[in-house]
Amino acid sequence: MIRNGAGSTTPSSFARLGRRSLTRAFGLNGGSNGQGRHDFQRPQRRDRPPHHEALRPGARQETLREANLLLITEEIFASTEALSRADLSIRTGMTRSTVSRLVDDLLAAGIVCEGSPVVGGTRGRPAVPLTPARRTLVGLGVEVNVDFMAARALDLTGAVLAEEIIWADYRSSDPAAVLVEAGRLALRVADEAARAGARTVGTVLAVPGLVDSDERTLLLAPNLGWKDVDLVALLGRASEAGEGDEGFGSFITAANEAKLAALAVAQELTREEDKEQTFLYVSAQMGIGSAVVVDGVVEAGPHGWGGEIGHVAVEPNGPECGCGSTGCLEVYAGKRALMASAGLPAGVTAEDLYVLTQCSAPESAASTAVEAVERAGWALGVALSAAMNVLDVHDVVLGGEFGPLTDLLRPCIEEELQRRVLASPWTQFSVRQRDTGNAPATTGGALRALRAVVDAPQDWIPAA
Ligand SMILES: [Zn+2]
Repeated sequence: MIRNGAGSTTPSSFARLGRRSLTRAFGLNGGSNGQGRHDFQRPQRRDRPPHHEALRPGARQETLREANLLLITEEIFASTEALSRADLSIRTGMTRSTVSRLVDDLLAAGIVCEGSPVVGGTRGRPAVPLTPARRTLVGLGVEVNVDFMAARALDLTGAVLAEEIIWADYRSSDPAAVLVEAGRLALRVADEAARAGARTVGTVLAVPGLVDSDERTLLLAPNLGWKDVDLVALLGRASEAGEGDEGFGSFITAANEAKLAALAVAQELTREEDKEQTFLYVSAQMGIGSAVVVDGVVEAGPHGWGGEIGHVAVEPNGPECGCGSTGCLEVYAGKRALMASAGLPAGVTAEDLYVLTQCSAPESAASTAVEAVERAGWALGVALSAAMNVLDVHDVVLGGEFGPLTDLLRPCIEEELQRRVLASPWTQFSVRQRDTGNAPATTGGALRALRAVVDAPQDWIPAA
């Protein structure tokens, strides 16, 4: 391990991305669809390192080199401290000269970078610390939601190089017009990242709805009023007008907003607490989405359609929901429903609602607001207890718009969990809030796009 004062031991916010979370997030096969397609059948757990696989007799030379590149990349990205070539040689069992050749390739590709040499230990040459590269390659995350669209470019260290958000009402909008606008927004953000010296690897679009397992077709987004939309084709149209046509990188894919936001939250929590996280992430935007994260990996089922907690029935005979069913969680705790029952217009923020619950006069308005929040908490508790009884996950992270209301929601949620979860006498429930900032799904999307690099580094190395 190399220690060189403050700078070189950068535990980047992308640290650990080389581990499991990179290999099977979403329970889908993940990664890019275009260039960078790779073998997803490689071992997903660290107990069978890829180089052992490749060292089987008869492994082709190219496969061996690819496996070794992957292993070196994973070690550098998963480490919270800068590693030297000597460290890598010890960790991987490769010779120093093999490690050096592979590191040279990764340097040429802009995947890793070298810090200042450190004289340390008792003998030998100064060690050169290797870390994920700054400002070379970026992933582009884009989100279209009910009341905003956003784009964010993250480099391999997890730093944000550019971002932009537009607030507007996209309910019942024309998907073609909105997606072309989102494409232009994304290209502006990519251009800004390019001016900082970075090249876009690929683009991942987040939407509040069901995305087909082809990772490009939106099947249904009740709150946008969209159905059967080719997201990738429409977003990509923005570049046909010649606006920064390299800007999207070599692939565009799409995924559900809550899963991508959960991916970003899982990475952050894992870094902060230094262990893989298991929790239910609840994303409150205009609708309510969720994701199950087990050991840092977003589990969404074989199609990626799990986590639609917003459409779990709380009262089967309750009010109609935008999905066509009745009594869903969303009609009690979705932003529109919550604001309406608090007597507020849908445009106000959760902070405004919180302030209203705290004021003393006029009393009736305040108590209406408190009742609305309590009812949302009750509905969340009912839906979450159903999820917990099925899933055995008892840690809840509230993200998105719920943030300021968490302290008011928590007792109502916990009361229902205590009553309804069979294992409650033996379980410690945790309901915590995560300040995700605006559009956390764009961060998750950018991270997911960058996986194309860390999962298949050989695809990004320039030809000799
Ligand atoms: Zn519904």
